[in-house]
Amino acid sequence: MSSASTMHAIQIPKHGDSSVLAYVSVPKPTPKPDQVLVKVAYAGINYIDTYQRSGLYPQTLPFIPGREGSGEIVEVGPEAKGDFKVGDRVAFMGPGSYAEYDAVSTMSLAKLPETISLEKGAAFLLQGLTAWSLVRQAYKVEKGDWVLIHAAAGGVGLLLCQMCKYLGANVIGTTSSDAKAELAKENGADYVVDYSNGYDSLIAKVNELTGNKGVHVVFDGVGAATFDVSLKVVRRLGTVISFGNSSGAVPPVNLMRLAEKNIRLMRTTLFQYITTREEFDALSSDLLQLVGEGKLDFAIHKVYPIQDVKQAHDDLEGRKTTGKLLLKI
Ligand code: NDP
Repeated sequence: MSSASTMHAIQIPKHGDSSVLAYVSVPKPTPKPDQVLVKVAYAGINYIDTYQRSGLYPQTLPFIPGREGSGEIVEVGPEAKGDFKVGDRVAFMGPGSYAEYDAVSTMSLAKLPETISLEKGAAFLLQGLTAWSLVRQAYKVEKGDWVLIHAAAGGVGLLLCQMCKYLGANVIGTTSSDAKAELAKENGADYVVDYSNGYDSLIAKVNELTGNKGVHVVFDGVGAATFDVSLKVVRRLGTVISFGNSSGAVPPVNLMRLAEKNIRLMRTTLFQYITTREEFDALSSDLLQLVGEGKLDFAIHKVYPIQDVKQAHDDLEGRKTTGKLLLKI
């Protein structure tokens, strides 16, 4: 049991594999004047948590991982902006969500409508905003576009499938198993190719479907393993958006490769699309509207008890999951 001044949390004392994740008792955070304190119900698990744990994205140690969650506001700082009060059910983004309490900025805090449960609330912000920023800002997907989504059955992948279908695109996905392919199709992919044994069949399928032109855009969150084939299957004047490294970081690129087809190449991070409350509101209100209208669903793969966090990271990195993983705090 935690006392009034302490709380349970997952802490990372040094970078490494999932064995460094430790369940500990730490001081309860005190919110800064412009923050609110949230009693966390669920933390959303994201691939970025594994990069921060492993050191691919180095952190100041020790630290509490987790970039998003849901819960109830229990304290509001005197200078906190926005219409937030004690008792509000919220979804939030901010560091330190694998914990009983998190002090968070109101910059990326959203009140949850009654129709969205705390469980769904922890599932939708980070991956949802990422996917929506990819299809609206990084590349504006248009009706009739040919779109390729790597890891189409993953958390971001399933949302990209739904959004691209909603926007009227022709959606090609890649996955590593038949079961994942089936799920990607249920979420809007028109065609799915298994890329686990190489990329020849992907190249052949894209050529067949697009009359040898290639796709208008590739959304590539897999990174090192797929970057090369992404450049191969994009069409002349097409766009490759690299937004993740689940197979490892993309090595340095010779820019001359882009001149072969005048390819636009972009490496995005969600956090550069939501640097102000206005930017966050613009993206998140679209997202809440899509969820409210039933146009977007968040498939929850599994809710892990906080003590099973190692298993959750192993499952995610071991390609055993689809959709969203949550930690019940
Ligand atoms: P996912 O649920 O998509 O999990 C990763 C998937 O990548 C796996 O399920 C697997 O699907 C695929 N994969 C391919 N090769 C490997 C490999 N060698 N090891 C592990 N997985 C592999 O995770 P998320 O939805 O959380 O994130 C997806 C990507 O989006 C990540 O790269 C993440 O960093 C990125 N991201 C980027 C953001 C940004 O702001 N730029 C924000 C949020 C996420 P399969 O088995 O079908 O190949």
